[in-house]
Amino acid sequence: MNAELIPNFIAGEWAPSLGAEALDVRDPASGERLGAVPMSGQVDVGRAVTAAALAFPAWRATPPLERARILFRLKALLDEHREELARSLTREHGKVVLESRGEVQRGIESVEYACGIPTLMMGDTLEDVSSGIDCETIRQPLGVFAAITPYNFPVMIPLWFWPYAVATGNTFVLKPSEQDPLTHQRIVELAREAGLPAGVLNVVHGGREAVDALLAHSDVKGISFVGSSRVAAAVYAKAAANGKRVQALGGAKNHMIVLPDADPDDVAAAVLSSVYGSTGQRCLAGSVIVGVGDAYGPVRERILDGASSLRLGHGLDETTDMGPVISGTHRERVRHYIGVGEREGARLVLDGRDATVSSLPAGHWIGPTVFEDVGPDMEVGGEEIFGPVAGLTRASSLDDAIALLERNRYGNATSIFTTSGKAAREFRYRAGISMIGVNIGVAAPMAFFPFGGSRGSFYGDLKAQGRDAIDFYTDKRVVISRW
Ligand code: NAD
Repeated sequence: MNAELIPNFIAGEWAPSLGAEALDVRDPASGERLGAVPMSGQVDVGRAVTAAALAFPAWRATPPLERARILFRLKALLDEHREELARSLTREHGKVVLESRGEVQRGIESVEYACGIPTLMMGDTLEDVSSGIDCETIRQPLGVFAAITPYNFPVMIPLWFWPYAVATGNTFVLKPSEQDPLTHQRIVELAREAGLPAGVLNVVHGGREAVDALLAHSDVKGISFVGSSRVAAAVYAKAAANGKRVQALGGAKNHMIVLPDADPDDVAAAVLSSVYGSTGQRCLAGSVIVGVGDAYGPVRERILDGASSLRLGHGLDETTDMGPVISGTHRERVRHYIGVGEREGARLVLDGRDATVSSLPAGHWIGPTVFEDVGPDMEVGGEEIFGPVAGLTRASSLDDAIALLERNRYGNATSIFTTSGKAAREFRYRAGISMIGVNIGVAAPMAFFPFGGSRGSFYGDLKAQGRDAIDFYTDKRVVISRW
């Protein structure tokens, strides 16, 4: 992997950023320097947006089938390079390679879905809306779109956006996370190899300054954001005030409800993978585990056993169960929350703060952590920690459990474990959360369904992926004709 300063990608060429500052990108398990990312500013963003705006007329006029053929070629290249991409992802993010393979697969599925654009983009027609008058809708692209994406799924999340945007005939500027931008850089290279014309997809690296420039640029018609709720809310407000379409996906605090009729072994397996997978750095990660009535004891015991035996290590070692967190700063944040939980009166029964891996002393390790007696008004019961921390709590009934969800400010995902169809139906009817798992620990919608939360987890209307993406990236124009 290139250990140099990575360039932006503008008008089909790799272009050095004008930003004076750069941040190192390191393997979070070994500390090895993998490259450096420039902090681009307004001028770099201006160039990328101009390149995208100039490419728009010809790309818009390219028949959808031809646009789809380029995406088919990209899909084939992604398939061919999937292992290389997964290994690169593990090196810069830290997640175990099995999870990286899953992420690459999910990214490929978005490209596959976008290949269906000739059908997906069709409009509707009705003859004789009045006598001799016909009415039709035509979906048209709008111009330049942009996405600002987080570090935790640096391959998949950008692919929630740009393949749909370019399939519908728009052009694009991506601002990836500055923490792990290298693997997507390779995907952009593959997109060029697949024949995506110059200027259709542009990449600008950086942080807040680049984001602010995108939000202010009058040629950017729409913004997709994924990241923490604080930034999501600010991006939503700024982009909307500037007259842009906007979808901003934020943070999460996901509750997993366990009813007494569920099998505790199955529940524990699902909960452990949900809470500790990706070292807890998932917007769909289980965080608060609510045992209803007698469900609590057996599940508590199994979670504690399972969590204690997870093996930390480098994600490329196939025997590793859990990798590091992304950075030293993030490790401190997770440690801070564990301390807060103790002070708030939650009972710390497994403490991962001092975890180490002797062969990898520079890694950002946090071991599996378990709290009991986590209350909804505690910070550890209500705030997103984004680390390998399970908060266990009890409820006396399904109603009590649902009341816990209602008190939380987030609305991303939740799961129920039960053998009762009636209880599951009651739960999904009342939960008020956008992504619901029934006997599933990570309720991740596939590419052809919408992905996104509600309440403090989502700002906007149309979600990522699926038909919502087609709606987000097109305007439905209505033509009424009399001949
Ligand atoms: P983050 O908010 O720190 O950063 C996200 C993006 O915003 C990055 O590209 C970053 O450069 C940029 N950014 C950061 N601060 C900014 C600021 N002040 N102004 C403008 N731009 C800024 O998020 P992260 O740490 O990269 O990712 C983790 C977060 O993302 C978690 O909260 C997680 O729940 C959330 N997330 C949500 C979903 C979802 O589907 N809802 C999916 C994945 C991640």
